[in-house]
Amino acid sequence: MAVLVTGGAGYIGSHTVAELLAAGEQVIIVDTLGQGHREALLGGKLYVGDIRDADFMDGVFKENEIDAVIHFAANSLVGESMQNPAKYYHNNVYGTLCLLEKMNEYGVKNIVFSSTAATYGEPDSVPIQETNRTEPTNAYGETKLAMEKMMRWFDTAHGMKYVSLRYFNAAGAHESGKIGEDHSPETHLIPLILQVPLGQRQHISVFGDDYATPDGTCIRDYIHVTDLADAHILAMNKLRSGGDSGVYNLGSGNGFSVKEVIDVARAVTGHPIPAVIEPRRAGDPAILIASSEKARRELGWKPAREHLPAIIESAWKWHQAHPNGYRS
Ligand code: UDP
Repeated sequence: MAVLVTGGAGYIGSHTVAELLAAGEQVIIVDTLGQGHREALLGGKLYVGDIRDADFMDGVFKENEIDAVIHFAANSLVGESMQNPAKYYHNNVYGTLCLLEKMNEYGVKNIVFSSTAATYGEPDSVPIQETNRTEPTNAYGETKLAMEKMMRWFDTAHGMKYVSLRYFNAAGAHESGKIGEDHSPETHLIPLILQVPLGQRQHISVFGDDYATPDGTCIRDYIHVTDLADAHILAMNKLRSGGDSGVYNLGSGNGFSVKEVIDVARAVTGHPIPAVIEPRRAGDPAILIASSEKARRELGWKPAREHLPAIIESAWKWHQAHPNGYRS
């Protein structure tokens, strides 16, 4: 049997493909390569195309014996989603509808879904539990929540089991140094910070220092991408062995402010990394910290790379070796 990974050439997708291959799985990847990179795939069989293309997806399901899907294919930029929500509804919500319909048509009953802490919005309490209120403050989070709900109704109607993994802030790179983060344009904090010691950027912008946090900058929970990847495999195997659907947070449970992240990066790189305070970015909640107790308890998930300096070190190793990402 094979695993279909949609969006498998992207950042978290490619690290999950790497772990699936290491676990001896047969891996099929569907990716438009719009944001993903062919070079990010350490193996597997790649189909280049769009999950909304029914004929293309018929080929993928007919040519392979797929029993589980891990679904990453989506747009995932908070800022862009505020400017262009239609793109997010089309790619994310309609794309997922097309995928679920195809899975149903071909009798594939297991899906692990790449969700996000952005489904919560501004949390009413931290650390955030899966039972917290979900009121997204940006269109990206709203579409991911809609996708989760869609899966719930496919489960009710068709017995299609899903595990939705709500990630907090993915960071770091594969220990081999062969794959890592490469977005274009880059919008994420850690790779942008590291562009300063790489000589590609004069300073890092800090988006707002007037939040209700101890140093006024936003607090996030950074989790190593390989730990996220491992959770997908645990979730998939839980579904394969008859486990029930569920929603799980994935984070370290530790919060770091933007200023603290910059300080850690200064220590890791030995560079002063100048920072400039700028206005808030639309849609950013002040504090997002996960409680991942449920994932630890029910999936047996145990992050192995929890310390921020080690996470940033792994990212630094990747960016130093690939200053222009996969283009270099
Ligand atoms: N951020 C920042 N400067 C940047 C990029 C991000 O201050 O150049 C902040 C952003 O406002 C947020 C945190 O860093 O509070 C993490 O942002 P990122 O885009 O990495 O992840 P997100 O939390 O949006 O998923």
